[in-house]
Parts: sequence; structure tokens; C-alpha cells
Amino acid sequence: MKDYKYDINTGLNSPVYDVVIIGGGLAGLSLSILLAKNGRKVILFEKEKYPFHKVCGEYISLESWNFIESLGVNLPELNLPVIKKLEVSSPNGNCIHANLDLGGFGISRFLIDNDLKKIVYANGVIIKEETRVNDVVFSNNLFTVKYNSGEIKCPVVIGSFGKRSNLDIKWSRNFVKKKQNKLNNYISVKYHVKIYRPDDTISLHNFKNGYCGISKIEEDKYCLCYLTTAKNLKENSNSIKEMEKNVLCKNPVLKKIFTEAEFLFPEPVIISQISFDKKAQVEKHILMVGDAAGMITPLCGNGMSMALHSSKIAFECINSFLNKNITRPEMEEQYERDWNLNFKKRLQAGRLIQKLFGKERATNIFIKVLKAFPFIIDKMIKATHGKEF
Ligand SMILES: Cc1cc2nc3c(=O)[nH]c(=O)nc-3n(C[C@H](O)[C@H](O)[C@H](O)COP(=O)(O)OP(=O)(O)OC[C@H]3O[C@@H](n4cnc5c(N)ncnc54)[C@H](O)[C@@H]3O)c2cc1C
Repeated sequence: MKDYKYDINTGLNSPVYDVVIIGGGLAGLSLSILLAKNGRKVILFEKEKYPFHKVCGEYISLESWNFIESLGVNLPELNLPVIKKLEVSSPNGNCIHANLDLGGFGISRFLIDNDLKKIVYANGVIIKEETRVNDVVFSNNLFTVKYNSGEIKCPVVIGSFGKRSNLDIKWSRNFVKKKQNKLNNYISVKYHVKIYRPDDTISLHNFKNGYCGISKIEEDKYCLCYLTTAKNLKENSNSIKEMEKNVLCKNPVLKKIFTEAEFLFPEPVIISQISFDKKAQVEKHILMVGDAAGMITPLCGNGMSMALHSSKIAFECINSFLNKNITRPEMEEQYERDWNLNFKKRLQAGRLIQKLFGKERATNIFIKVLKAFPFIIDKMIKATHGKEF
């Protein structure tokens, strides 16, 4: 691929692209749009082919509604369910209910990622689908991005490659090297189902060493998605079906859901080796956005909003750098500072809550306490959610 152009004014060859984005989830797609709308030349690499399913609870906090619309997605036209209530059950089936102050809406990743991809194309970004980036090298103030079938040079590279990628391993990022602890080595499973449930409620059902969320998305479908430890699966002969029968369905509420639901995928979407350990926001001079910068625990229902918000923050920093208003070290410093200002406390709260849920007996007691003191739920929701951005 031609990655240099001749500049008639300076008589020099300069890179064709201003920014290379690695990973086309919500973080990478939204950042591409922001940059392209500001006249930047952007190329985005995505290892999969759109549209595709992704493990995610598919509940987006309303703090992102206006931002997503500003990117060009016509959300009202999609007639999406608005979710304003929360139901939580303990492993023994004890239920509590709460109102969600801000609330959220349901939309599948299959739909929203693909809609954003169309907007990315329409704004002139080159998208290299089914193209995995294998390494990035920084030298002489320029990156060389190496992918399956070639390499490209560029002054700014963004890591939006999600919770765990080949690059995390290649670069031995700190969270990859961590020993197994309470915040890593999780697996997640997702289905789309048809079931009769309230439209406006997101439910979180706990079971031994995990929890399962269910909420409505588009076309009268529901997203059923759970997170549990790899140990739970191992103890059930590495069989998802066995684990669901022996562990999840011990919660009577989940048993009812698994019995009544019509499962729409031939096989669930599954991911493993999920970690909520801390990550660096800048690595090898690459600004990390979305889950690549730090992942909030899914029970907070807020990862997608954080991915979108972090892209907006990164956009401001990159723009100033490309406009030559700040130096590269200043760009990196500013991004790290702004990221931490917005997300550090939320992630800490998320990690704490993740530790509280999990152990069967402790969760049963915790839900009982929450039932008696419902104001604690509001405090937990506030601690993990942000404001409109
Ligand atoms: C079980 C579970 C439930 C969740 N539920 C919710 C929820 O209900 N609400 C919510 O807000 N958040 C939820 N989240 C979190 C949310 O899914 C993430 O925070 C969000 O997807 C992050 O977006 P991203 O763009 O950073 O990463 P991703 O959406 O994961 O995108 C990363 C992309 O990078 C690509 N990629 C990776 N490596 C390479 C490479 N080397 N080259 C090219 N491409 C590459 C991948 O294919 C992928 O498309 C949940 C997470 C889990 C695990």
C-alpha cells in the first residue's frame, strides 16, 4: 500500500495517513468518525468482517445517546427499547428492584457497530477489514504498523483493540503477565433470545462465581449474556451446557429464563481470558482507547459509554498534536491525565463491586442487605456511571 505522498510545498515525502486506528469496535469506529469529520486522513484495521456478533450485554447507558447521534447514527429511527429499571437476584433467587436514574437503551453490537462502520466509510476513512495488525514499531517520531499483508507508516497510532488482543501478548503488557487473581481469567457467553420480559428492565442474576444479564434490544429480541470464572467452566467438564445446567440454573430465576427462552443463535458467542486488572493508557507512544486502556466490570453496564467517551478525549489530544499546538509528550500526558480524571474512580468502584458479587453465600447476604438499604444501590450506580459527554 502506498503510504507516502509527495508534498509540493516542502518538496518532501510525507505519510498519506495522519492516524492509523487498530481495532474497529465502538472506540475505534467513533474516533475514526471524529477525526475524519475534522479533515484527517485515517485508516482503520479490523480483524473481523462487519457485521459480526460480539460478547456484550448490549445495554448502553443514556450518557452516550447524544454523542452517538452526533456521530450520525439515527437512534430514534431504530425504535430501540429504553431501559429505566434494574432487577437483581441473588444465587438463591431473592430479588431486588431499583429505578435507574439515567437509564439506558438496548441495541445489538451487530447493528450499532455496522451502522457506525457505514458512517466511517461515508466520511472517507479507509477500512481494512479482515486485516489483523501484528506489530507496531516507533522510531524517528514515526510509527511503522505491520499487518498481514504489508506495513504502513504514520505519525499517530491508536490502540482500540479491545479487552485482549494479539498485540497485548506480543508487547507483554503488564495485565497479561499478572498471575491469576480475582480480577482476571473470566469467560463470557452471549445469546440472543426471544422471551416474554418487561421492555424497560435490565436484570442481573447472580450465580456461583458469576452473573448473567438480560435486557431487550432491537426487533423484540433480548440479549442474554453472562460472565463467570474459567474455573467454573473447568469444573463442569469444559461444557457450557453442563455449567448452565449445574451452576447458572441453581438460581431459580435463571432456570425459568433458560427454560422459557427461544435461543436464536445455533451456538453462543464466547470469549475467554477477560481481565479487569489495570492497564496503561499510553503504551509505546500509542494512545489506548476503550477496553484497551482499561475495562470496567460488565455489571456496571458502562463499558461502551467509556469506550466512546475515551475516543472523544483522545480526539481532542490528537487534534492538538496534529495542529502542532502540543508536542508528542504533551499529547501523551494530556490523554493520560484526562482519561484518569474521567474513568479512574469508576474503574476502582467497578473492581470493588466485582469482588462483592461472586461468592455464593456472600452474594446472598449482600442482596439481603441491599434489599433492606436500597439507597446503597443508588450509590453503587452513581459511583460507576458518568455524565453525558
Ligand atoms: C460479558 C460482558 C458484558 C458486557 N456488557 C456491557 C453492557 O451491557 N453495556 C456496556 O456498556 N458495556 C458492556 N460490556 C463492555 C463492552 O463490551 C466494552 O467495554 C466495549 O465493547 C469496548 O469497546 P472497544 O471498542 O474498546 O472494544 P471492542 O468492541 O472489543 O473492539 C475491539 C476490536 O478490535 C479488533 N481487534 C483486536 N485486535 C486486533 C488487531 N490486532 N488488528 C485488528 N483488529 C483487532 C477486534 O476484532 C474488535 O472488533 C460488556 C463486556 C463483557 C465482557
